[in-house]
Amino acid sequence: MPEEHYRVILRDDEVPTQWYNIVADLPTPPAPPLHPGTGQPLEPGDLAALFPPQIIEQEMSTQRWIDIPDPVREIYRLWRPSPLYRAHRLEKALDTTAHIYYKYEGVSPVGSHKTNSSVPQAYYNMLAGNTRLTTETGAGQWGAALAFAAEAFGLSCDIWQVRASYESKPYRAAEMSVFGGTVVASPSELTQAGRALREQFPDTTGSLGMAISEAVEAAAGDPQASYCLGSVLNHVLMHQTVIGQEAVKQLALCDEPGLDYLFACAGGGSNLAGISFPFIRENLEGRQEVRIVACEPSACPSLTEGEFRYDFGDTAGMTPQLKMYTLGHDFVPAAVHAGGLRYHGMAPLVSHCYHEGLIGAIAIGQREAFEAGVMFARAEGIIPASESNHAIAGALRQIRATPAGEKPVILIGVSGSGLLDLPAYTDYLSGTMPNT
Ligand SMILES: *Cc1c(COP(=O)(O)O)cnc(C)c1O
Repeated sequence: MPEEHYRVILRDDEVPTQWYNIVADLPTPPAPPLHPGTGQPLEPGDLAALFPPQIIEQEMSTQRWIDIPDPVREIYRLWRPSPLYRAHRLEKALDTTAHIYYKYEGVSPVGSHKTNSSVPQAYYNMLAGNTRLTTETGAGQWGAALAFAAEAFGLSCDIWQVRASYESKPYRAAEMSVFGGTVVASPSELTQAGRALREQFPDTTGSLGMAISEAVEAAAGDPQASYCLGSVLNHVLMHQTVIGQEAVKQLALCDEPGLDYLFACAGGGSNLAGISFPFIRENLEGRQEVRIVACEPSACPSLTEGEFRYDFGDTAGMTPQLKMYTLGHDFVPAAVHAGGLRYHGMAPLVSHCYHEGLIGAIAIGQREAFEAGVMFARAEGIIPASESNHAIAGALRQIRATPAGEKPVILIGVSGSGLLDLPAYTDYLSGTMPNT
């Protein structure tokens, strides 16, 4: 057997020192967000009530590189650089000549990429003198990531978790508590919005829209509190570019002529942006020719079936309007297992790149996703997150269509671990999972 790479591990002093801001390199400028009241482009001042100054600066920045503060980098070093794997055993299982690599973010404290952004968000809030963070969470990955980050900087963290998930996924709430967060099921008795919803719909199992209303209200009513978002916005996507920067470096160590395909799952767009934007830079500068494919669930196909237009980020229509591919802010997707992919829109920067042809997109049904996830787990020994399975399934489609003897180099973004998604795997294996 040749001495080929299985794991490509960078030294821990090779954690990136800067985030990459793709806005500086885009051939055409993305459309600005609009004020929900006036319909005019948003001014930095409009965001001052919501975010600390450094976050606002990053959200609107056109600077190519932004330094990662040392205290953030120090915490990143708990799990970064994350490993890049060559999937030799999956290649064998598929009987393919393709070279398959995957970048694994499941090694983070909460088992997903989300801590790459929760840590800087907590840090900048600490600098601004805030003592408390609030947020909503669906399946719980973002809530856990923010609880971990808040604790690291001595902040408290209140999380409103959609009641249906709170009840069906008790381990995620336990995880948030271990990291020092306070979790309540939404709608709750703690906010006006929650109490009103409970009175109107006594049996409701909640929704992300309801949980956002509660978390935003709680932050608005407390001058020391700030609301945090786990995806979609420019600064969140930029924080995630540590993933792609490391992957560019790791693949360069692998004696490959260049990357041919990159597959990543897309909900709000943060892990896709994080792994792909540094490769878009490679493409724009003529160093590589990577085809980037966003893999979204058929149940919530914002890129492949949505419209490119201004829409609200939330269900209630309170946030700024964002130019994005959207299914409409009142779109309610079916209750598929990949909770992190059930967002009605797509990050404006990812939408812009898709519109400009810099990335492509496909939609994948959840049974196809889990078939791929189970095959991956059996070959590679890692159980991927439900969301990540969509990226793996996208790659398998490409690999199965590869003519014999060709050796495309394929990278899969495995955004997280599926150990807390095991009920979904049971559902798939027992044959009761619908293919929506
Ligand atoms: C939240 C989450 C996603 C989806 O969010 P994006 O912003 O699209 O990345 C994907 N994978 C995992 C593991 C997640 O936790």
